[in-house]
Amino acid sequence: MSDPRSLRLARVRRHLPDAGVDTLVVGHPPNLEYLTGLRASSGVLLLDGERARLVVDFRYAEAAAAGMRGLEPAGGSVVLAERSLDESAAEEIKRAGGGHVGIEAAYLSVKRRDWLAAALGGRAGPFSLVPTERLVERERVVKGPEEIAVLREAGRRLAGVARDLARFVRAGRRESDIAAELDHAVRLAGFERPAFETIVAAGPRSAMPHARPGGRILDPGDAVVLDFGGVYDGYCVDLTRTASVGPPGPDLERCHRAVLEAIEAALDAVRPGRLASAVDEAARQALARHGLDGAFGHSTGHGLGLEVHEEPRVGRPAGGVPPAVLEPGMVITVEPGVYLSGLCGVRVEDDVVVTAEGYELLTDAPRSLIVV
Ligand code: ZN
Ligand code: ZN
Repeated sequence: MSDPRSLRLARVRRHLPDAGVDTLVVGHPPNLEYLTGLRASSGVLLLDGERARLVVDFRYAEAAAAGMRGLEPAGGSVVLAERSLDESAAEEIKRAGGGHVGIEAAYLSVKRRDWLAAALGGRAGPFSLVPTERLVERERVVKGPEEIAVLREAGRRLAGVARDLARFVRAGRRESDIAAELDHAVRLAGFERPAFETIVAAGPRSAMPHARPGGRILDPGDAVVLDFGGVYDGYCVDLTRTASVGPPGPDLERCHRAVLEAIEAALDAVRPGRLASAVDEAARQALARHGLDGAFGHSTGHGLGLEVHEEPRVGRPAGGVPPAVLEPGMVITVEPGVYLSGLCGVRVEDDVVVTAEGYELLTDAPRSLIVV
């Protein structure tokens, strides 16, 4: 089997002529990891038609050499930075004598861009900087079989933690303590780390979709939204369940029933060829049948992969963003919610991979309200 990274490098290379780029400078860590396998906080890949030169400093020399092994046929090599990373990358680029140098416009700071422009000879020099967007990201949207296998295992492990949630939630416990225990459980389940700051939001705070776990002590009657994720072999999964401390009140019961219908309707809409926004629309229509569509203020989902929020967007069509059409191999979350200010919030979130027929559920854990 050929190295998936060779295929990825070849696919990104195909976009370079259209983007008017001779050499693409890749520095966004998830893009770097996708193309080279290197997990590093800093490093620069210089990708052109023939070569893929990975510039790293001494801290990553060994990891880079190991990572690039096998990529020699795709032009892969490692350049050990003698000076700063940027200076060494600029020196490497300058060897070409001139040309169009693509930068990742969404990630390169203005300061580094200006520095690079000057280092390459400035405006009158032989190089020009070309801002680019999505040259690597567009390839990351559809996952390869090797990535899906990792996400499947990650989803299985995270669902295992979700099945155990009742054990963490209890009256008298503090939100932040529950979050800390959940993080520990995520690590014990084999994850490298939590994928984001775990959300444990109880009582009226559950109505704040991105509440940080605070000092609230759980009270009988509280709704508790638990949103957590893990990074497994570089890939992120993300799951939410809602609990009730003691028997749920009528508001919580009604909201939870509506959200369950919404997630089922949204999942039914996951099919290749459909717009991702149709998944969002299906969730909203289900909530509208309960008169709760006005209480759902965020998007229905997002893509998952090396980043916890990546393409495709699973939300209302937005100006300036091309509508995403679902394709087999895309991995997305589906996470409708209802938030009644001052009262309670409910969210249920699962992860799926789009298949030829519809979807495969990655996070198979009961969605029912967890009553503790
Ligand atoms: Zn989440
Ligand atoms: Zn999410």
